Amino acid sequence: MQNILITGGAGFIGSNFVKFILDRDTQYKIINVDALTYAGNLENLKGIAENSNHTFIKADIRDRVKIDEIFSKHNIDTVVNFAAESHVDRSIVEPEIFLTTNILGTQVLLDIAKNYWKVNPDDKYCKEYKPGVKYLQVSTDEVYGALGKTGMFVETMPLLPNSPYSASKAGADMIVRSYHETFGMPVNITRCSNNYGPYQFPEKLIPLMIENCLKGKKLPIYGDGMQVRDWLHVYDHCSAIESVLNKGVVGEVYNIGGNNEKSNIEIVKLIISTLGKSEDLIKYVQDRPGHDRRYAIDNTKITTQLGWAPAYKFEQGMKETIEWYLNNTEWIENIVSGDYVKYYEKMYRYS
Ligand code: NAD
Repeated sequence: MQNILITGGAGFIGSNFVKFILDRDTQYKIINVDALTYAGNLENLKGIAENSNHTFIKADIRDRVKIDEIFSKHNIDTVVNFAAESHVDRSIVEPEIFLTTNILGTQVLLDIAKNYWKVNPDDKYCKEYKPGVKYLQVSTDEVYGALGKTGMFVETMPLLPNSPYSASKAGADMIVRSYHETFGMPVNITRCSNNYGPYQFPEKLIPLMIENCLKGKKLPIYGDGMQVRDWLHVYDHCSAIESVLNKGVVGEVYNIGGNNEKSNIEIVKLIISTLGKSEDLIKYVQDRPGHDRRYAIDNTKITTQLGWAPAYKFEQGMKETIEWYLNNTEWIENIVSGDYVKYYEKMYRYS
């Protein structure tokens, strides 16, 4: 593994992953491809622009010609696909781009990766092909649908997505699976729970609440706020992906989660108390349609088979994350302007 194509590497998790890999190992060359949509931000990559092991290319994963050119020029041997439209609320308002980017974009990457398979030089009859490109699809626990009060998602469960976002991610997972089953491509799929940490776009729960709290703005909570998610620090997600890249069994799906279930309202109250603000800021708003009640991840497979474990304790991780947002107000201010303001006002109808 030498030349890794990381897509969506200017977004929240992708940019953290790029830095995680560059910090750990100098043997990798990273080709970071991102279309720089509203969620992509080159400021997330500040400090590594000069790193000779990192090349950023602005490109859309749906652009077959450009992606093919990148594979050929940079001799790509590994793909980690983070690029996606990722916000459930937006997928309700504008589903089409979720389908084109998340499903068709994935298919373009797979198709091109398939073309860069290398013939096994040891097989003189060339009957067997040794795939030369490893492909890892970064997926989400949301593809499983919603749980009741008990139970956990395991990898063998049927996919029952409830939002256009999760349906598009489930569609991508199916295409990835089919390229393994049909062509024997060396793929893995990871399905992670909700991430938190630095550089998360402020439309998502935790940075949104921190940002509003700091400005004394209302904290909009969908429904009764009792929706439960399993929260994982983004650095733990990065280390889990690295484990799957290095040790994952070809064709397998791995759930990633931290056994850390919290309701939305618990998270918001933790932010309020950490920032010393008043719970009067909380404003319950109409629930969003199709809002899944509870997600919980069974991480037995990745912990027992690959030896991965999360390193972050939630309280400490949240404390550091809140501090990061407090110390990086300029980063937030540069985002929370222009188009984002229009989007926010449309969604919540007040500020
Ligand atoms: P994000 O929205 O912060 O980043 C997505 C990135 O993809 C952006 O930089 C954007 O510019 C880029 N992008 C979008 N469309 C593109 C296209 N057509 N071509 C190239 N680049 C494009 O999202 P994130 O939270 O960092 O999520 C990254 C991945 O992880 C997604 O696939 C998401 O489904 C998955 N995931 C996210 C979470 C989470 O809690 N955030 C949890 C599990 C899985």
